Amino acid sequence: MGFRFLRRVSTMVLLLSSQEQPTQFRVVPAMKPAQRIRLFEEVYARDGGRCVYCGIVARRPGRGVRRAADLATLDHVVPRSLGGPLTRENLVLACSACNNERGVMDVEAFRAVKAAGRET
Ligand SMILES: [Zn+2]
Repeated sequence: MGFRFLRRVSTMVLLLSSQEQPTQFRVVPAMKPAQRIRLFEEVYARDGGRCVYCGIVARRPGRGVRRAADLATLDHVVPRSLGGPLTRENLVLACSACNNERGVMDVEAFRAVKAAGRET
């Protein structure tokens, strides 16, 4: 089932990759897979492939690693529930474990919690 899903996504990427987005495009209600992948790659590269909270090297999503704790995810700095947009500026790379753990906690507060956890 996972494989079928991946194959469908890559087909959609092929179909969508030639479409240009208007430059004034702002908040995207439902992001297209190609945009989402591009955004992921940009954030992944900017943050050096490491979780910004615990510093581990986050694994790229792929076959068999979709539920791993060290899986790379995009974490909203301002949570979506508080109106945070799905933009590069509002996203950081976080491992799946930190992303789940943080919830809606403030980014700086969560960083402090993680830093304190490393010292003990
Ligand atoms: Zn982490």
